Amino acid sequence: MSCPDGSSPKWQDDAFQRRVWTGSTDAQGDLGHISPEHLQELSLPEVNPASWRAQCTRMPSPSCAAQMTSLSCLFVVLHAALQAAVFGEYTWEVFVYCWELQFHLLLLLLPYLLLAGNLGCFLLCSRANPGTVTKSNAASLVKVYAYDGVMFQKGLVCPTCSVEKPARSKHCSVCRMCVHRFDHHCVWVNNCIGACNAGVFLLYLLSLTATAGAVAAVTAALLLQLLQLSNLLHGTYLDAQGQEQPVDIPVLVQHLFLTFPRIVFMLGFVILLTLVLGGYCSFSLYLALTNQTTNEWCKSRRFGGSPRLPSQPHARPLVYKNIYSKGIWRNLKEVFNPPTVSERKKKT
Ligand SMILES: [Zn+2]
Ligand SMILES: [Zn+2]
Repeated sequence: MSCPDGSSPKWQDDAFQRRVWTGSTDAQGDLGHISPEHLQELSLPEVNPASWRAQCTRMPSPSCAAQMTSLSCLFVVLHAALQAAVFGEYTWEVFVYCWELQFHLLLLLLPYLLLAGNLGCFLLCSRANPGTVTKSNAASLVKVYAYDGVMFQKGLVCPTCSVEKPARSKHCSVCRMCVHRFDHHCVWVNNCIGACNAGVFLLYLLSLTATAGAVAAVTAALLLQLLQLSNLLHGTYLDAQGQEQPVDIPVLVQHLFLTFPRIVFMLGFVILLTLVLGGYCSFSLYLALTNQTTNEWCKSRRFGGSPRLPSQPHARPLVYKNIYSKGIWRNLKEVFNPPTVSERKKKT
């Protein structure tokens, strides 16, 4: 089959078929060892090349990219609104009650100090260059990390940026650029997370979790103190049958919710936030300590789940091994101080 202009259809192109097979928009994420002969055995259905180009290459149109950018801005506004709502309630009620109950001032100011640090990390992370691969720096970035031959193949060129893709880099369809040591595109900071801002992103996550945890701790301490002062912990109540019952936790929570509805609602929200952020923080720390990016971790799951192609029963199974790990402390150091070409030359 040929295209109307006489050229071969795009699905017969080897690189394109690899991309379709793996479902990846990134040429570096394909199964690079598959031979073209094997791919031709797959007998892909006959389709209109123009529609395939539109559906399978997943290159966003300018209007689509603009929509994604505005959606990211929406997340930033939502992020700011949630922080403003939590700290508005904390300042308006929790801080005032705690001050009257003579809580230590430093304890009351701790959430504000953590918030200031978090906002600083947010600004640094969102405004930083994540490590853009350009025509001027591509040649040097190619030498920073070795190609593992499984996840990252040497000699691939990004069709959008027209630069050779360094190992561990990926094209971001939202930012429309290739990013070195690409981790993911974060909608909350409206920026890519790459080699140059991965460290500050980790600090941003840690400070956000600590801020939510500090607000939750101070608020919980306030409610506990209010219960102790009201002597409700050892009180009793009359049930529906008129029997006197000792006060239990559901009754205490109900009483607190009816007395301080906004504070209890805010406490529930920040406890949930602390748990979710704590889990994500732990995962990010694990990735940092093992020198993996989120992009690499996701791709490694795919290799691990499907080591052998069904049409090639005797083919060599794909075995992914993280070749970038250098030990816990050196891995952590690399997140905050990305290696340069000169450093790699010294070690080799
Ligand atoms: Zn690119
Ligand atoms: Zn991006």
